[in-house]
Amino acid sequence: MYRKLTADRIFDGIRFRSEGTVLITTPEGVVVDLVATEDAGDEVQVLQGMLSPGLINCHCHLELSHLKGKIPMHTGLIDFVKHIMGNREAEPEIIQQAIAEGEDEMLKNGIVAVGDICNNTSTIEQKKKQRLHYHNFIEVSGFPPYVAESRFSKIKEVYDEFKASLRNNSIIPHAPYSVSIHLLKSIAEFEGNNILTMHNQEDEAENEFFIEGDGKFLELYRSLNVDISFHKAAGKSSLQQYLPNFPVQKNLLLVHNVHTDEADIQLASSCFESSPDHLFFCLCPNANLYIGGQLPNLELFRKNNLQLVLGTDSLASNHQLSIYAEIISLQNTFPQIPLEEMLKWATINGARALKIDDRFGSFEKGKQPGVVAVEEGRIDLVI
Ligand SMILES: [Zn+2]
Repeated sequence: MYRKLTADRIFDGIRFRSEGTVLITTPEGVVVDLVATEDAGDEVQVLQGMLSPGLINCHCHLELSHLKGKIPMHTGLIDFVKHIMGNREAEPEIIQQAIAEGEDEMLKNGIVAVGDICNNTSTIEQKKKQRLHYHNFIEVSGFPPYVAESRFSKIKEVYDEFKASLRNNSIIPHAPYSVSIHLLKSIAEFEGNNILTMHNQEDEAENEFFIEGDGKFLELYRSLNVDISFHKAAGKSSLQQYLPNFPVQKNLLLVHNVHTDEADIQLASSCFESSPDHLFFCLCPNANLYIGGQLPNLELFRKNNLQLVLGTDSLASNHQLSIYAEIISLQNTFPQIPLEEMLKWATINGARALKIDDRFGSFEKGKQPGVVAVEEGRIDLVI
């Protein structure tokens, strides 16, 4: 017995279909076809609002869910980082409970797949339930070059624990201001990786730290008593220094990009000239508004035909884990960008970024992408 669904509008992962289209799936949600109402036969279920494939959250930190509401808004990135360092410890039961609730919230909000940053193994048990697809981005940091080797071997142990229970894992760098080129090279060479990601240009202090060699990150390292006297002004942005060290044959998701400019985009495009399909820019608008109050220059990315995807970041810097809420925020600031385009970022682009577009991201025959109904901001995972 097939399921037949229609609504006011159907977005198929790439475009809105014409009015009167019916989605036909198996009871498990495997797409059989999209047909006109007159060809759909009986028992078509009519829903209000819009249908879309399941939403893809390309950037989350599920393990930080217990920090919901704990960190004040608008502190700027450096104080936010300090708050995270000071608050992330908690009773294991509290952490586990918040992880389970965070996952429930994503499911309730129509999210079917997640690129999830992991600094430790606390999310493994929940992820073993396989309620969502996860790509685990196991994150390492270490700015002084002399810690590169020890940090890499330590994170490799975390990676091995993930690998023993879960598929789809990578070791990834945290951000240019916290990872040496030396450490980045070990990550780039690690053969277990097929997708990479990195926080990028989230705060203007990151560019200042690399271009001028000073600013708030220098102060942060001083306050932590980390000697970074080796760090010198290079006259180039963080992205321009770090990107040439990434392997272009693997997918790369650059996250935040609030202070990415035209010169950065040109450099990124030329680095990935031979494989532009591998480069993705992930936007986390609600986290940007929570921490710094500023959004990326979206028109710059659109003008250069770059592949955009969406992320929620963690509950430490967001009031909810909802990709649709991220779209609503973007629509408020950029009403000229069609909803269709943003939905594409949230579905097929996300699926391509996480290399799961054989199953997720669009209503193409044979895929099992999840079916989401959205009506007046209310979201339901229908199948
Ligand atoms: Zn993040």
